[in-house]
Amino acid sequence: MSDLQSGVQTLHLTAGYDVERVRRMFPILAQQIYGKPLIYLDSAATSQKPLAVIEAMSHFFLQENANVHRGVHYLSVRATEEYEKARSKVQGFLNAEHVEEIVFVRGTTEAVNLVAQTYGKAQLRDGDEVLISAMEHHSNIVPWQMLCEQTGARLRVAPIDDAGELLLDELERLIGPRTRLVAVTHVSNVLGTINPIRRIVELAHAQGARVLIDGAQAAPHLKIDVRALGCDFYALSGHKMYGPTGIGVLYGRRELLDAMPPYQGGGDMILSVSFEKTIYNKPPYKFEAGTPNMVGAIGLGAAIDFLAALGPEAIAAHEQRVLAYAQKALAAVPGLRLIGTAAQKVGVLSFVLDGIHPHDIGTILDREGIAIRTGHHCAQPLMNRFGLAATARASLGCYSNEQDIDGLVAGLAKVQEVFR
Ligand code: PMP
Repeated sequence: MSDLQSGVQTLHLTAGYDVERVRRMFPILAQQIYGKPLIYLDSAATSQKPLAVIEAMSHFFLQENANVHRGVHYLSVRATEEYEKARSKVQGFLNAEHVEEIVFVRGTTEAVNLVAQTYGKAQLRDGDEVLISAMEHHSNIVPWQMLCEQTGARLRVAPIDDAGELLLDELERLIGPRTRLVAVTHVSNVLGTINPIRRIVELAHAQGARVLIDGAQAAPHLKIDVRALGCDFYALSGHKMYGPTGIGVLYGRRELLDAMPPYQGGGDMILSVSFEKTIYNKPPYKFEAGTPNMVGAIGLGAAIDFLAALGPEAIAAHEQRVLAYAQKALAAVPGLRLIGTAAQKVGVLSFVLDGIHPHDIGTILDREGIAIRTGHHCAQPLMNRFGLAATARASLGCYSNEQDIDGLVAGLAKVQEVFR
């Protein structure tokens, strides 16, 4: 084990949050871009990976690689153990009651599509309703639209206010006896808003509707407890939470997963196959057809260990400090308007600058070594809500610091100089 890995494991024992030490765990951050130190402010698109995750994945390939659930040989048994250990880590991370409630998928997008095409297709009828919010990512909109086309169900949308907070009274009004599913994001990828999930679950359950939470942007920032939230489904992506791409999780209540039809057919999701009749496997395997992303799951397990070692509360407190610093610094930039000013939010700062297109902001900042995201952020209906085609977005991670924000503010001054 490297010094950096063992450093992760003892980090929580040290007082305070040493962001410089955290940064050293992310080798990519040490590089220069166009001769300038990298300022990475695009963690909401994808987070960087700590050495502990990279090493866990290379260790798997170097020492343990074999197909899971199939072989009787040593490596296959070992790979299966590691893969299932990763599932247990996810169970702990989400505080799920049963390990069978953890389904490995490609990411949040696949998790939502899985629920739409299994639970949704089996349960929804003409005239039923799916309720989402106005701040959803396309991956929590389009799968429901597709389901509505297939079933005759109707998509309804709970509105938000100008600060980017859900209008709970409106949401309550929209949940009725025909509402079968409420699908909302825990944290908005554009506004940073943290939604009151427990309350939404109470309102939905009171009307007999099930609730799916898109946790893609929550998992890296908040302590997640699916039992305390009371949700029926929870989706997340490994790559947003310091793990690799191509792996994510669908949490589903055991009784729901048991009753759901399978998603894709293939190896591993069956108990027996004949041309006359196939008997499906139990969850979670029923939903994991084909050779899974073993190394991805192991990387995600390492990311969960990394988050636990830093401490979700310590990360959140650090990010809130940098967020407050950034909000103040950006508010002082002339002509800058922040989009998304909810009282409860994570470190996602969307903004527009008077008279300058977001893509120009992004391109000029890039030459300064500053990585931000510009565009509609896969949330075009939300952009329309604010009367915008695009925003610039700076987003924070556990390694972000005040110098990153100072660099961004200096970069924005250069952008404004170009357009003066
Ligand atoms: N939901 C939200 C809120 C997101 O930010 C994202 C990723 N931008 C997704 C869903 C989709 O995640 P993925 O692309 O990893 O499937």
